[in-house]
Amino acid sequence: MKTNEIMEKSEQYVLHTYNRYPVALDHGKGVRLYDAEGKEYLDFAAGIAVFALGYGNETYNRTLKDQVDKLIHTSNLYYNEPMAEAAQKLVAASGMDKVFFTNSGTEAIEGALKAARKYAYLRDNSNDHEIIAMNHSFHGRSMGALSVTGNTHYQDPFRPLIGGIRFADFNDLDSVKAQVTEKTCAIILETVQGEGGIYPADPEFLKGVKELCEEKDILLILDEIQCGMGRTGSMFAWQAYGVEPDIMTCAKALGCGIPVGAFVMNKKVAEHSLVPGDHGTTYGGNPLACAAVSAVFDIFDQEKIVEHVQEAGAYLEQRLDGLVEKYEFLSARRGKGLMQGLVVAGRPVGEIVKKAIENGLLVITAGADVLRMVPPLVITKADVDEMIEKLEKSF
Ligand SMILES: *Cc1c(COP(=O)(O)O)cnc(C)c1O
Repeated sequence: MKTNEIMEKSEQYVLHTYNRYPVALDHGKGVRLYDAEGKEYLDFAAGIAVFALGYGNETYNRTLKDQVDKLIHTSNLYYNEPMAEAAQKLVAASGMDKVFFTNSGTEAIEGALKAARKYAYLRDNSNDHEIIAMNHSFHGRSMGALSVTGNTHYQDPFRPLIGGIRFADFNDLDSVKAQVTEKTCAIILETVQGEGGIYPADPEFLKGVKELCEEKDILLILDEIQCGMGRTGSMFAWQAYGVEPDIMTCAKALGCGIPVGAFVMNKKVAEHSLVPGDHGTTYGGNPLACAAVSAVFDIFDQEKIVEHVQEAGAYLEQRLDGLVEKYEFLSARRGKGLMQGLVVAGRPVGEIVKKAIENGLLVITAGADVLRMVPPLVITKADVDEMIEKLEKSF
């Protein structure tokens, strides 16, 4: 089918909840994607920070094909080897204790919120606990995840949301302290805010939140769905801060394209929260998804992806800083590693994205005015140079 036909058919049958760009992607190779007409795009979006390994990684593809032939699904009523392997690798990479696999990031958030409420319920034998979340955060679209997403535009049509949620300002410790009550059971935040506009947590802020949590037996939930899995130059962004969460959520690059998420707990939470009957999922952690997760961790090791991100990320930062100096309408760069945003002042950022697509470059937006770059983690310096060239042409 041609792009026009694909677009028409999609708009006829698929519920219109996205204003999509007029591109129908067909296949990919490395850090490049090709549309239905064969036009090439340099990919600085990676399916929203998902396809970290680039397209067509041989080990990854072979693992999945083998697993398809062997066993795709069993339910959680039985054990399966890929889940055991994937969980062990996620625990080893995080230094945490226990994993629950989900089908998406949103479901990982739901699980994390339930684990936190259960922890506090067991502690106090009461069930009126509160959770503090951040303004401008994004945690997903289901009712629980939406309830902790600090964006009234997303929330308003769907009220009433779940109760007991209070909002504070990201990177403002006093505003967090002001929301703490004797009922607070958890504080949830993204280590680097993604959708809200690429805001890394200030080290002092994150340390302060952690101290507050320890002092008052509040659980710290770090959402690493976008910023985790090597993207910021450490396996999980919190590892560079030296601040350990009680619960961490993962998804996006965890399966590199196979839909899978996870919430991961430290020992304290694992031993005092969810037990049989409390939580479940039919698909979550099925052999195909877990074979993907397991392969992703192996490839990260073999190809030294995290070290590569440190190098490629430093170069990307340097080139983007060059653009901020050169162009009046670019007011700042924010980000870490290969999770970067350019703040665009006085020009519609959406127009730049559309021009970039015409010029064969996929970039996305974050917040109202940020040009977001979350490329596959395997990009090279030459790819960065090519991106800069295409982007400048699009200005
Ligand atoms: C994408 C995202 C989510 C939601 O994940 P889905 O897989 O889309 O459900 C939650 N939190 C953060 C930080 C995200 O970037």
